[in-house]
This record gives sequence, structure tokens and C-alpha cells, in this order.
Amino acid sequence: MRAAYSSARRQAMSIQSMSVEHIAKRVNDIHEAVAKHLPNVVHCPHCGTIEAVNAAECLRAGWPKCCSSTMLLGYLGPVQ
Ligand SMILES: [Zn+2]
Repeated sequence: MRAAYSSARRQAMSIQSMSVEHIAKRVNDIHEAVAKHLPNVVHCPHCGTIEAVNAAECLRAGWPKCCSSTMLLGYLGPVQ
């Protein structure tokens, strides 16, 4: 526990010394890395709309909405 706190504190201090541009690049890199593990398609469980997405961009800017709610990741097949 103490080691985890110490590690988090060290990381927080190292972030404080980074430029905004460097932090933005690291966040972007995280989005790209996470997006590799996400589907590039979303669907609406209400109306069945399917939409191709750039998952990294969706992590940055938000996921598409349809029928007044956020679309769900992936698409497993026809609705119903
Ligand atoms: Zn819909």
C-alpha cells in the first residue's frame, strides 16, 4: 500500500514537470493504445443502427448517440 502511494506520488510529481504538450501526447498515446482493444463499430439497441467509428477519436471526443442514448460498443448480429 505504501509502495503504491509512493509510486503514485512519484508519478504525480513527474507529471507536474511535464509540458502541456507532452501530457496531451501521452493522453493521445493512451487513447490509441486502448482503442486497439475496442471494436470499431457501435450499434443502437433501440433502432438497430450500426455505425463505424474511430475508437481513439471516440475516446477523445465522445461516443455517438442514437435514439437519445449513447450507442453500444460492437455489433453481435441482427437486433431481435
Ligand atoms: Zn437508434
